[in-house]
Amino acid sequence: MDKRTLHDEFSNIENDLKQMLLRLSEMKSTVESLTEKNVHLEVENKHLRSRLMELEKEASATSSGKNELSKSRMNLEKIYEEGFHVCNVYYGSRRENDEECAFCLDVIYGERK
Ligand SMILES: [Zn+2]
Repeated sequence: MDKRTLHDEFSNIENDLKQMLLRLSEMKSTVESLTEKNVHLEVENKHLRSRLMELEKEASATSSGKNELSKSRMNLEKIYEEGFHVCNVYYGSRRENDEECAFCLDVIYGERK
């Protein structure tokens, strides 16, 4: 290996090392910003989870009274689905061709009076 080649080789290695150093510091700052973001996301995630739990609690508290049919209404619904009227107007008579009856639906699903 002559002097010229040796010198070139040193320059090449020096350049390579500088490049690597540059990439290393870039990688370091990337890791730092990712770590920071991760901390933010963890905090945000925690907040959202507790908010979700609050909402679920509220939802179950309000729905248990409204959305579920009472036992007696469920019985009426069963009779209605078997093809009979449960309304005051036609109570006990058969629904012709399973046609819907607004009176029955009001009895089963209507607002409590
Ligand atoms: Zn009816």
